[in-house]
Amino acid sequence: MSATSSDPSTVPDPDVEEGIKYWESQPASYDGVLGGFGNGSLPRVDALGTRQFLMYLLPELCTVPSAVRPLDVPAPAPASARRTRVLDVGAGVGRVTSDVLLHLFADVVLVEPVERFIAEAVRRGRASERAGPAAPGTGASIAEDANPEAAPWKGIGDGRKSVTFVQATLQDFDPARPSAGVAEGKAKILGRVGYVPAEDDLDTGFDVVVCQWCLGAMSDPDLVAFFRRSKAALRDPARGFIIVKENLCSEKGEPRVVFDESDSSLTRSDLAWKQAFAEAGLRVVHEQIQRGFPEGLYPVKMYALQ
Ligand code: SAH
Repeated sequence: MSATSSDPSTVPDPDVEEGIKYWESQPASYDGVLGGFGNGSLPRVDALGTRQFLMYLLPELCTVPSAVRPLDVPAPAPASARRTRVLDVGAGVGRVTSDVLLHLFADVVLVEPVERFIAEAVRRGRASERAGPAAPGTGASIAEDANPEAAPWKGIGDGRKSVTFVQATLQDFDPARPSAGVAEGKAKILGRVGYVPAEDDLDTGFDVVVCQWCLGAMSDPDLVAFFRRSKAALRDPARGFIIVKENLCSEKGEPRVVFDESDSSLTRSDLAWKQAFAEAGLRVVHEQIQRGFPEGLYPVKMYALQ
């Protein structure tokens, strides 16, 4: 059951504890984080859509020959160049990290509050580490085609890439200074897999912050505050982005928000999202509807913000 309203003052705010309680009752799997859509075409279509969106924004991220890599992009930077860093928030079992971000970035920080989800992400990361380097031309890509959920994570077994696991809510997490949250007891570091830097890199900011299917857990003030903290954590304001990929409820010319009692979350309309972006001082530089999802779902849109 959903209580809906076009008057924002009558829509309740999400209750963080209620939301977490709901997610704790869901299986720690793609099916669990995707509300029963984990086994069909959705995960693959979703991951490819996000990868293409990111490569459109940052063509230099694409380091393999590809039909979507423009010809006028300089060759991939040498290994000595600065490592790219990305933040995956409300990350669930690490689906976006493994199927999107490790294909494009060097270092991922994964933030998720629900114990069993982040434990599953850590388990997959450690299993990828033990799996060692993938044999050239075999293994990872074939396993990934068959079942992305079972494939080893790219770049972890050979130590080229890394994932750091942080247990925290979005309300408590500060992307610019994760270590401050740890010191204050608001965030817990559960470990790191893959590449280990010579110097701690936790507070060195991000090239991209990715938020998918989790921002509904925040009230408008929490959302705007989180966007502001995320913006402050972008290393290069001109080449860095906050990516939002979320459901959209319908609207009739005005911002609209729907409260979902089952997980105590908000579904926002396009204009409601844009209102929150503007309030946080963010500009929409690119936006795109995700095509190819099964019928009957909310439309899903990707926004790139600066
Ligand atoms: N982004 C992942 C998971 C989506 S499911 C993916 O696309 O696969 C929604 C996720 O939001 C769950 O992992 C849930 O635990 C998380 N979540 C719920 N409340 C949250 C909060 N207050 N802060 C951060 N994450 C939250």
